[in-house]
Amino acid sequence: MPKDEEEIKQMLTPEEYEVLREKGTEAPFSGEYVHEKADGTYECKVCGNALFDSSAKFDSGTGWPSFDSALPGAIEQHRDSAHGMERTEITCARCGSHLGHVFDDGPTTTGKRFCINSVCLDLEEK
Ligand SMILES: [Zn+2]
Repeated sequence: MPKDEEEIKQMLTPEEYEVLREKGTEAPFSGEYVHEKADGTYECKVCGNALFDSSAKFDSGTGWPSFDSALPGAIEQHRDSAHGMERTEITCARCGSHLGHVFDDGPTTTGKRFCINSVCLDLEEK
């Protein structure tokens, strides 16, 4: 876990920093995990917190890695009214980094679609 914002800035690329720490959004279909199928655990790029299991991942067609559930206690949800939209922002429960948004139109039994920026994730393969 990095000790302060300066250390976080040093460990991330400018693009990663903008998404994770300034609530940016990567371009769709740009991320390395959009089509990733490997088994493992997706962790927070900043603090290593385990966020999503690969078994929850599905192809949403949106261009961002999508999951139907998060690991218990891994994330926090916040109301987000930015850009004239009512959305639910997802942040890492450990370090507070922005990850993406969750929507109620998921295709599986959970009904949820966690739409996550690829640059926020590190896949720890099994
Ligand atoms: Zn984190």
